[in-house]
Amino acid sequence: MGKPKIAYYLAGGCGGCDISLVDLSEFLIDVVTAVDIVFFAPTLLDVKYKDFEALPDGSIEVGFWSGNVRNKEHEHMAKTMRRKCKTLIAYGICASLGGIKGLVNLYTNQELLEKAYRDTFSTDNPTGELPSPKVTVDGKYELELPELTEVRTLGQVVEVDYLIGGCPPHYEQVKKALIALLEGKLPPPGSWITMGHAVCEICKRNPVLKGKSKEITTEVKRIIEGELEEERCLLEAGYLCLGPVTQGDCGASCLKVNIPCRGCGGPIPEVSDFGLRAINMIASVLENEELVDKIEDPLHLFYRYSLPGSMLGGRIKK
Ligand code: SF4
Ligand code: SF4
Ligand code: SF4
Repeated sequence: MGKPKIAYYLAGGCGGCDISLVDLSEFLIDVVTAVDIVFFAPTLLDVKYKDFEALPDGSIEVGFWSGNVRNKEHEHMAKTMRRKCKTLIAYGICASLGGIKGLVNLYTNQELLEKAYRDTFSTDNPTGELPSPKVTVDGKYELELPELTEVRTLGQVVEVDYLIGGCPPHYEQVKKALIALLEGKLPPPGSWITMGHAVCEICKRNPVLKGKSKEITTEVKRIIEGELEEERCLLEAGYLCLGPVTQGDCGASCLKVNIPCRGCGGPIPEVSDFGLRAINMIASVLENEELVDKIEDPLHLFYRYSLPGSMLGGRIKK
């Protein structure tokens, strides 16, 4: 039997997930010698879609999908990846829950185009041109832009076997997932591939890990306000940290640099709606209802990475 074939596709993402593979460092050499990478677009290999589409269905062992589904081309590629790959993994929080770029679902595509191409202070577009879906270059080349859709998670378009959180996934977690893949020791289909602990459980600021109990939160502050105490739980101190409900595969990275967790790791097990669980958690630690009014921009706080994949669903009309 030959090496397992692997495919990787970057859709509505920023490329940071691709870079997270480079973070594997020397382990990357073990990976690339153990697998046969047949498709890695658009960043690494110049493989044309038609060549990928010509591969037999089910001929690829594992497909990694990074980024969300933002247009008709992504949708077509999601369906193609699903047909070609025996196992399909939503890689990173954009693919699994929509990611930070999923917040565009707060607006219509027309509003977004108007803002980007006409309304920003730095825009220089005297005729108010918007991108045209079809254009002819030099009078002979027909170019077509894929139609924008609302942002969807990969799982809202095709069936997904596994999800990996993180923006981007942490290299230790990626290493663990790749070893599990190569050894055929994956969890049951439909699972998140995760170390299984919340950010709080590995946070050096957690009083419970020092044998103390957590205090109630008596004020709400922005990160630029007040003085941070070296050892104190940020949530206790009034900084709305989502560590209690977030998968801690990153090793509590943000807390190491005194930034509250914003939830990019995805939800802890058994949670289907990250934002709802985060609201529930914050409500349970605040001392009184008045503090709720002090939460600036709750939608961006609670649904920063998960709006498209949440029960709020896709687009929210203003
Ligand atoms: S999950 Fe983060 S790093 Fe990965 S594509 Fe999305 S925005 Fe980029
Ligand atoms: S709430 Fe945040 S700061 Fe507090 S222990 Fe959990 S992760 Fe650490
Ligand atoms: S601490 Fe939270 S926001 Fe920061 S990298 Fe980890 S999961 Fe993401």
